[in-house]
Amino acid sequence: MSLLFPDTCVLCDAPGTALCLRCLRQLEPPPPIEEPPGTQTVDALCSYRDAGADLVLSLKRRNRREAVPMIAAALCVAVEARRADGSRPPRITWLPTTPQRRRTRGFDQAELLARAMGKFSGWPAVKLLNRESGPQMGLGRQDRVGRPVFRARRSCEGELILVDDVLTTGATIAAAAETLVAAGATTLRAAVVAVAP
Ligand SMILES: [Zn+2]
Repeated sequence: MSLLFPDTCVLCDAPGTALCLRCLRQLEPPPPIEEPPGTQTVDALCSYRDAGADLVLSLKRRNRREAVPMIAAALCVAVEARRADGSRPPRITWLPTTPQRRRTRGFDQAELLARAMGKFSGWPAVKLLNRESGPQMGLGRQDRVGRPVFRARRSCEGELILVDDVLTTGATIAAAAETLVAAGATTLRAAVVAVAP
């Protein structure tokens, strides 16, 4: 944010704030979430419909990053409410997008969110996963064969927060969770912007 170039709403372009109150109120609460295997809790900001889908796509497709700090703060508050008082700070990590998509977009939206959550909370944000292969986009959900394979880059001990933009079937988070637990994660909390209905 700057005085010369004030933020505009990423959804409706109204000046003043990165996500205006009118658009914020249009976000539908997430549907009931079943924790993907390997995770203890899942928190989400909204449902992946209408304004919720636009919010994710504004970042992913249009590189509108202004709302990222607000989303990150809301997710940190939700995650913190799940945690035991006085427990050691968790580490934040993310589900890396495929290298091809990172190259095309020039950034990884899950990493941006995770780093913004780290900035807000003071919890360290660290890259713990490498992605070996990606889901096949453009196919129906049932046809997305070959689930992604993740490899741990280092020890993943302790409590971790795993960040992604959208939760659909949970298969990708489950694949990452399996890797993180095998590498030592004891508690795994997923945090996503939106959940597909
Ligand atoms: Zn707006």
